Formats: sequence, C-alpha cells, structure tokens
Amino acid sequence: MQTWVWVLALILIGFITYFLSYLRFRRMITKQAKMIVHVMKAEDDEINQYNNPYAVDDDDFVDLERAALTLRKKYLRLRRQSKEERKGYETVFSGLKEAIVTVDQNLRIISFNSSFLSSFKWTPHHERGNYLLHDVLRNPEVIAAFKKTIDTNEVEKTEIDTYQLFVTPLPSLNENETWYLGVFYDLTEIRKTEKIRVDFVANASHELRTPLTVIKGYTEVLDQRLNKPELREEKELLQPIVESVKNMSELMDDLLNLSKLDVGGKLIKSELSTQKITEDILSEVANIQQLSHKNISARYDVESILANEDSVKQILRNLIINAIKYSAETENIEVTWQKKSSHILLKVKDHGPGISKEHQARIFERFYRIDKGRGRDQGGSGLGLALVKNHVLNHGGKISLISDSGQGCEFICEFPNY
Ligand code: ADP
Repeated sequence: MQTWVWVLALILIGFITYFLSYLRFRRMITKQAKMIVHVMKAEDDEINQYNNPYAVDDDDFVDLERAALTLRKKYLRLRRQSKEERKGYETVFSGLKEAIVTVDQNLRIISFNSSFLSSFKWTPHHERGNYLLHDVLRNPEVIAAFKKTIDTNEVEKTEIDTYQLFVTPLPSLNENETWYLGVFYDLTEIRKTEKIRVDFVANASHELRTPLTVIKGYTEVLDQRLNKPELREEKELLQPIVESVKNMSELMDDLLNLSKLDVGGKLIKSELSTQKITEDILSEVANIQQLSHKNISARYDVESILANEDSVKQILRNLIINAIKYSAETENIEVTWQKKSSHILLKVKDHGPGISKEHQARIFERFYRIDKGRGRDQGGSGLGLALVKNHVLNHGGKISLISDSGQGCEFICEFPNY
C-alpha cells in the first residue's frame, strides 16, 4: 500500500476519534450545565433531591454543583425569611385603624394598608407603584403636606377635614431614594367628644348663671341692709358668701366666654388705638394696682391694631391682673405694643417669681394652676390664660411665654394685623 494511503487513513482515524470525543464531551457539558440550571431554579420542595452530586467522577463539576446548591439554598432561605417578615409587617399594618401610605419622592405610591383603601374608598386595579398619590387623594392640602416634607425632609403635621396627617421621611432600601410615610388619624370621634364637652360646659354654665344672678342680687341687697353699726357682726358673717358668689359669677363668666370662643363664629374687628384700649384697662385695674403698690408703664411703638375690642380688653385685663397678682415682691410691670412685619405684638412683662419650664407646656390649659393649694381669693380658677390663648388663636395669632423660675414672666401675643 502506498504511504499516502496510510497517512490519509491515520488522519481520518484521528479526525473520527476527535469528533467522537468532542461529541461525548459536549454531551457531558450540556448535562452538567442543565443540572446546574435545574439546581439554580429548584424550589423549596425540589431542592433536597439535588443533595447528591451528579458529576461524581469530575471534581470540578462536583464543586460547581455544590456551590450552586449552597447558593440556591441560601437564596431560598432568605426569600422565606423576607416573606415571613413582610407578612408580619402587613399583618401589623393592616391591623392599624389609621390609614397609612408610603410614597417615593415623585409621590408614587409604594405601599398602603387596608384602612387607607377603606378610608379613601379606593380600589386599585393595577399593581402598587403604578399610582400617584393624587390619583387617590385629590385634596391639594394633602399633596402640599407631602411636598413640604419632600422639600424640607422634616416631619409635617397638619389637620385636614376630619383627619390629622403626619408625613415623615423614611430611608428606603435604595440609598439614593427617600420614601415618605403618611399616617392619617381619624379625628371624627375626638371631635364628637370635644363637642359634647363644649356643649356640656356651655349648657351647665348657662343654667347655673340664672340662679347665681338671683343669689348675687339678694346677697347684695342683704349686704346693703346690714350697713348699720348694730348689725356689724351679721355683716361680717355675710362677707364670705358675698365673696364666694362674686368668685362664682366670675368663674361662670369665664366659662361662658370660653364656650363662645369654642363655638367660634365671625370675629368683628375694628381699628383700635393701642394707647386708648390699654389706658381703659389700666384705669379698670387701678384699684388693685394701687393696693399692691405696682408701677405699670406702657409703651406704644404702634398706634393701632385691627382686632376685636372685647377680646383685646380681656387679654389685657387677664395678663395685667396676673402680673399684679403673682409678682407680689416686685414693683414694675411693662406693657408694650410693637410691630413685627405684618404682625402686632402685645407684651406684658413682670419681674415676679416667673413660671418654671416644667409648667410652661401646660400653663395655657383650662383649670391649670401651678399652686393648686391656693384658694380662688389668692390664685384663681386657672381659666385666665386659657381665655387669653383662645382669644389670640381666634385672631389667627399665637401666644408665647418667656420665663423661668425667679426670672419674671413675659407673655407675648402676636396678632396678624389684617
Ligand atoms: P388663674 O385664674 O389661676 O390666675 P390663669 O390661667 O390666669 O389662672 O393662670 C394660671 C396659672 O399660671 C396661675 O395659677 C399662676 O400660677 C400662673 N401665672 C399666671 N400668670 C403668672 C405670672 N405673671 N407670674 C407667675 N405665675 C403666673
């Protein structure tokens, strides 16, 4: 046989051997790859059947299979954990009666609870994330509250219709993104209870006022008739009654005034001379001022204020009387009227014992008195500052107190002047 035939035969044999090994190798690789793909896709109920490595005779593939199996098991465990955690959160979330919604910085809804659906009568048709907040809540105040928190990154608290809304920034899973949590507290029940309380106080004080007026009238008549020297003892016996009836009448007046403020109504404002109105009150309180040797100075940096006359008088009266009453050891009291941009400030300052920080948060509450052991003759009912605050709020203003123990008090009422 010719040599070239031998060479050709050898090449052919070599080629066939190579081709057969290639086919075998490829089959093996494909099988291993498929096996690994199966492992990577296995669900909880299938994963255990892959515990024994398929490629027992190839160490590299055994390692690869084992790594894939470990990875998949880890993933399945984490997925289970996160599902359970999510279920836990959702149970707590949906158990809350407050409506809760989370949005991203574009006001896209990320999550919400079932109270949110029922409170705002919303039935989503697509997946979460496909809705914007204003698709569900059209009230511009709600959107404005969320936008404010998005701009400032601070908690925003506001009352809208029958809800109190808190918007809080939350860090999201994605570092470059912030989510915002809105919690809507339903105030319907609180408002109902508040109304019952307000109505009760108004009715009770109204009902008590008539008999009290009768008692007051008769006590005054009796007091007059006992003005003879031989009836001095009887007159002295009557004095505590006269005093108590006077205190009770004042208390009733305060309660009725507070009830009127609670009901609200249109505020009739007029241009008031700050000097005239202050002097009117100063002459009203001249008696107690002289008795307690107080020196009251007044400064008028602003001539007039647009406000309700009765309210301003009551504010001045209560603050000045308090300053006289509670600063026994000192003399000077300063009343100042100032302008601050579009607002007018009324400041009443004394140099008495002051009010410590712990009491300041509650000092404007009804019936709150620092020294509860004091009787009405020395202290009062604790309604004075509540009245002052409500009058100021009714004007759309605000009240603040600068004070501390032993450092006197400065009450500042800020009125919008329009
Ligand atoms: P009251 O009728 O008791 O005066 P207010 O509401 O006017 O009620 O005041 C509440 C409490 O605040 C008072 O009982 C008093 O303890 C304290 N207070 C008010 N004004 C002053 C003041 N100028 N200096 C010190 N304490 C004051």
